[in-house]
Amino acid sequence: MELQSLPPKGGDHNLQNYEEAVKQFDWAEVEKAFSFYETGKVNMAYEAIDRHAEKENKKDQVALYYSDDQRDESYTFADMKKMTDKAANVFKDAGIEKGDRVFIFMPRSPELYFAALGAIKVGAIIGPLFEAFMEGAVKDRLQNSEAKAIITTNDLVGRVPVSDLPALEKVFIYGDTVREEGKTLDFKTRLEKASENHDITWVDREDGLILHYTSGSTGMPKGVLHVHAAMLQHYQTGKWVLDLKEDDVYWCTADPGWVTGTSYGIFAPWLNGATNVVRGGRFSPEAWYGTLEKYNVTVWYSAPTALRMLASAGDDVVKNYDLSSLRHILSVGEPLNPEVVRWGHEVYGLRIHDSWWMTETGAIMITNFPALTVKPGSMGKPIPGVEAAILDDQGNELPPNRMGNLAMKTGWPSMMRTIWNNEEKYNGYFEFPGWYVSGDSAYKDEDGYYWFQGRVDDVIVTSGERVGPFEIESKLVEHPAVGEAGVIGKPDPVRGEIIKAFVALREGYEESDELKEDIRVFVKNGLAAHAAPREMDIRDTLPKTRSGKIMRRVLKAWELDLPTGDLSTMDDD
Ligand code: ATP
Ligand code: MG
Repeated sequence: MELQSLPPKGGDHNLQNYEEAVKQFDWAEVEKAFSFYETGKVNMAYEAIDRHAEKENKKDQVALYYSDDQRDESYTFADMKKMTDKAANVFKDAGIEKGDRVFIFMPRSPELYFAALGAIKVGAIIGPLFEAFMEGAVKDRLQNSEAKAIITTNDLVGRVPVSDLPALEKVFIYGDTVREEGKTLDFKTRLEKASENHDITWVDREDGLILHYTSGSTGMPKGVLHVHAAMLQHYQTGKWVLDLKEDDVYWCTADPGWVTGTSYGIFAPWLNGATNVVRGGRFSPEAWYGTLEKYNVTVWYSAPTALRMLASAGDDVVKNYDLSSLRHILSVGEPLNPEVVRWGHEVYGLRIHDSWWMTETGAIMITNFPALTVKPGSMGKPIPGVEAAILDDQGNELPPNRMGNLAMKTGWPSMMRTIWNNEEKYNGYFEFPGWYVSGDSAYKDEDGYYWFQGRVDDVIVTSGERVGPFEIESKLVEHPAVGEAGVIGKPDPVRGEIIKAFVALREGYEESDELKEDIRVFVKNGLAAHAAPREMDIRDTLPKTRSGKIMRRVLKAWELDLPTGDLSTMDDD
């Protein structure tokens, strides 16, 4: 079954003519939107917050809606300026300076956003951490980056091994009854008392902004450094891809511990002057639909895993909510199965737009623009200003419809500038001069659409055929009983590898040999005999990163009884 292409709906999109923009666009033009075009100096926090707070007609617009099970708050751009100025003063008074690494280890809360932007205001490089990290993961990251400070909470500070971290000078705790002693500082009291006037630290466009340790789907996390100039691409993709206008109410569901939660949960929406929604607490279909309804969200950026969970919850839940304000839905992080696009179109009446990028690329690179036809299963086309290609293993460009290495010409603004303390790893991305090689496998069709096949390391070679796991996983989740699927190649003396599927069933289905056979036959008939899993394990859940990615290397390690490697980013509750 070929899922139908979904033509653009029309309407007043920021990018009306993609082909034209590809020809004309120049990144230098985007600089004109920002103060540094005139002054030569820049600060992300100024462009995201202060610039709007300075405008009479803009300062009282809500910048941040925050809610969780206990709190329900809103902050205007003027409030955000005040709170981030105060936070910046707390850091400054404690001796934090330009270039210092300041880690942020807190659950989502307004204070997390004040702290992140406040640290950026003094020129520090922020390092976001998932609140679920245990001691080892925190230590690895702080050690590798020689962090000078961390801001955390009473609940989490026990996981910061202060005595093992000689470079760590300040431990800010946001919470009640914090006793200041040794390295510990009471962030909450200091924030209350801090002055509301702050002299922002102007930096150069190439100065460090943020250090993101990648989600660790494939191995030990790497510290990817981004600089202030990344704002050009955050801003421009916010406009073209998220289609943000100043009156949009936008919700990015990603946690700031992951790059989507900063590039598109902090920078892109606020650079574009939109209202940003943050929901704390855990996922539930009711909480999520409730959030969309409560704030009249217009633009929603989420991930395949969340969308699959919403689909698994059944279509009755969604009927209890008024989602009529929604006009644009996007997805990132993992391949977006065509079945999810089909389902989304049915229940929301909207196309879900896939977007592809990596921690290393800093911002969206390939996507389905609102003005383009969506081909379900395809990631879409490169953004204007980025040139992509499929390369063979020698670095030659491959013609359409051939699977190979997804690569981009170097030189886009939000490109990482280094991997912290690991030059060798960094250089590994540039094996072919002029190209950045992503490590993902894909092909391009005749119309210029890119089709993700899997990580290069995950591609399965069975009886001489190369198969991407994504295609099989997508077919599996089309089966009514299947909620999620992860597919690996299992070594086999005859076939090289055989296809093994791990499957989590939807609500209401029970494991049985008949069901497994039915699923197998479904893939065989829908895809190809060689693509049908020869082995299938049913599991309650699949191992995933905190950012919701299925960890195929863990599935493989389980299967082959190998060490699972670094599991710090695994979601284990
Ligand atoms: P690590 O590099 O530490 O192993 P990771 O690659 O999962 O972790 P991220 O940078 O968060 O860390 O993820 C980028 C990867 O996620 C991409 O290389 C790709 O494999 C996958 N990905 C992201 N978006 C998409 C998408 N739209 N379609 C398919 N895959 C995607
Ligand atoms: Mg990666």
